[in-house]
Amino acid sequence: MVADSFKEALYRLEKANEHLNLPKDVYDRLKHPRRSFILSVPVTMDDGRVEFFTGYRVQHSIARGPSKGGIRYHPSVALNELSALAFLMSWKCAIVDLPFGGAKGGVACDTTKMSIKEIERLTRRYTYELAFVISPESDIPAPDMYTDERMMAWMMDTYSMMKGYSVPGVVTGKPLCLGGSLGKPLSTSRGVLVTLLEAMKIREMNPSNAKVILQGFGKVGAGCAKLFAEKGIQVVGVSDSKGAVYNEKGLDIFSLLKHKEETGGVTGFNKAQAMNGEELLAQKADVLIPAALEGQINEKNAAKIKASIIVEGANSPTTLEAESILNGKDTLVIPDILANSGGVLVSYFEWVQDLQHFFWDESEINQKLEHIMKKAFAEVIYIKEHKKVDLRMAAMILGVSRVAKAIEARGVFP
Ligand code: NAD
Repeated sequence: MVADSFKEALYRLEKANEHLNLPKDVYDRLKHPRRSFILSVPVTMDDGRVEFFTGYRVQHSIARGPSKGGIRYHPSVALNELSALAFLMSWKCAIVDLPFGGAKGGVACDTTKMSIKEIERLTRRYTYELAFVISPESDIPAPDMYTDERMMAWMMDTYSMMKGYSVPGVVTGKPLCLGGSLGKPLSTSRGVLVTLLEAMKIREMNPSNAKVILQGFGKVGAGCAKLFAEKGIQVVGVSDSKGAVYNEKGLDIFSLLKHKEETGGVTGFNKAQAMNGEELLAQKADVLIPAALEGQINEKNAAKIKASIIVEGANSPTTLEAESILNGKDTLVIPDILANSGGVLVSYFEWVQDLQHFFWDESEINQKLEHIMKKAFAEVIYIKEHKKVDLRMAAMILGVSRVAKAIEARGVFP
């Protein structure tokens, strides 16, 4: 079986190509990231020592436009996983028809053991080393795991200082005061909600009777909880890295958010039953939203999952082995490259607003997001029905075919 995430990304591409039969040279170009950078990032730590970190940026494709993708700070950051995530970004951008290719970057570091000043110096030096490959026209970073709008502000400032003028369009996910977009903080979660409501129509599930489990209670998971509460969709279980809470009658989301703010996590919330994350996955629910790390739904727990709809808020949360178990149970899995594309969509809106120096109101942004995501969902369903494939394969076919078409139209330079 496929062992690592890059091999898995190549395997999924190969499977999509069985339906597309692309010319060999186009398929070969899709298989290879366009450029990968490994950067040495020296940082003066608070005690005066200079520590070296390894930074990366992988640009998979620029066939449809500048490459786009997040920057991740985590000890496990490595070229292999970032390459797989850059692939995903190419397909994701193409599925919602954005004029972007895919990229991903990051630094192998443990920010929980660093001061905010050390993180700032790391971000500024990483940006300096990366400055010759990023720009609003070529490659546009954004936040990802363990990075947020503060780091995007430092990236934008460092790049702008090197240029000698302000360049807000060089990164997205910035604070509002620097050219960030309204609607950005909840954009990924809003996209998850839009695709969930579309999936519920297919399964004839009434949103106000549905019970949801959320795995992960960070930007995506907690955002979903808020939006679901507003829509009257009941969340019965939530987990984070330390544990899980479950109440079959529904969790009081706003009390749980307050509890998390005060204690840092969901454990210890007294209006629910405590359990571990694996136990939560096996509880009774109609919908499961993975919104934590890769590979969390695997061959060990897939058979125990009772939800009939899974909407992948996280990137690559379901392993290939788990996918075949879920397909066997007729679970409807809305794949990451469709379900969590709300984030990159509003990043695109932010970039457009920065370039035109004209900003939209939040209702316009949310409306555009909903319209584009519903259209992409319908296109994926059409392919699913015509090709008789699952939703992930249908989304892959849509995304890969759009990138391939651009590569073919451009031809080979020189
Ligand atoms: P985050 O760091 O804000 O939150 C991650 C959450 O997962 C935290 O609550 C953490 O405690 C929890 N977690 C970690 N390990 C866990 C485990 N084993 N079991 C249960 N929970 C666990 O990250 P985020 O931005 O919410 O991203 C979550 C996922 O969504 C990632 O895969 C990310 O790539 C993907 N994603 C995020 C965005 C975005 O806009 N933030 C966009 C697209 C995709």
